[in-house]
Amino acid sequence: MGLSLGLLLVLQQPIILDGHIDTPQRMLDMKTDISARLPDGHVDIPRMQEGGLSAAFFSIWVDARYGPGSAFKRALALMDAVHALVDTQPLAELATNADEVRGAVKRGHVAVLLGVEGGHAIENSLEKLDSLYGRGVRYMTLTWNNGNDWAGSSTDELRHGGLTDLGKRVVRRMNELGMLVDLSHVSDSTFCCRRL
Ligand SMILES: [Zn+2]
Repeated sequence: MGLSLGLLLVLQQPIILDGHIDTPQRMLDMKTDISARLPDGHVDIPRMQEGGLSAAFFSIWVDARYGPGSAFKRALALMDAVHALVDTQPLAELATNADEVRGAVKRGHVAVLLGVEGGHAIENSLEKLDSLYGRGVRYMTLTWNNGNDWAGSSTDELRHGGLTDLGKRVVRRMNELGMLVDLSHVSDSTFCCRRL
């Protein structure tokens, strides 16, 4: 007799990871506590656990209205909201690599990962990029719907013909750090960049 799919999943204990949840803005702007079951929205810790969602990249989405002097600060504030969750909720653990994800899952906890959405968050600064990595960020979309000074977006005016020299340095630095380069939202020419 064959095993049911449900039983196979339990036996294999797969790690199911959501690559992008836009929950941190809710946690920061509306002070929503996702450690308790919520009557609305899609994500909270109890429902993650019941649904078998082992891990999720919490998206540090920086709206296009934030620019030089405010975009990086906004990213930090969103990350602080996520850090406050993992600092106070034993069921949620910050994870910055595969071993930490596996460890959290083994302990029956939810692994919380960080990804930045919108390259303008680094305000053209490789030091700020390094700082994001140091705070646990493991991917960054080069743009959101807004292009920036070094990369073009698919839904903004076409500019740069893809990545500028600074954009190439950003991607190189991300590769050195071990940060995923997320191409969501970028223009075709940014996506299809020639050799760096
Ligand atoms: Zn998003």
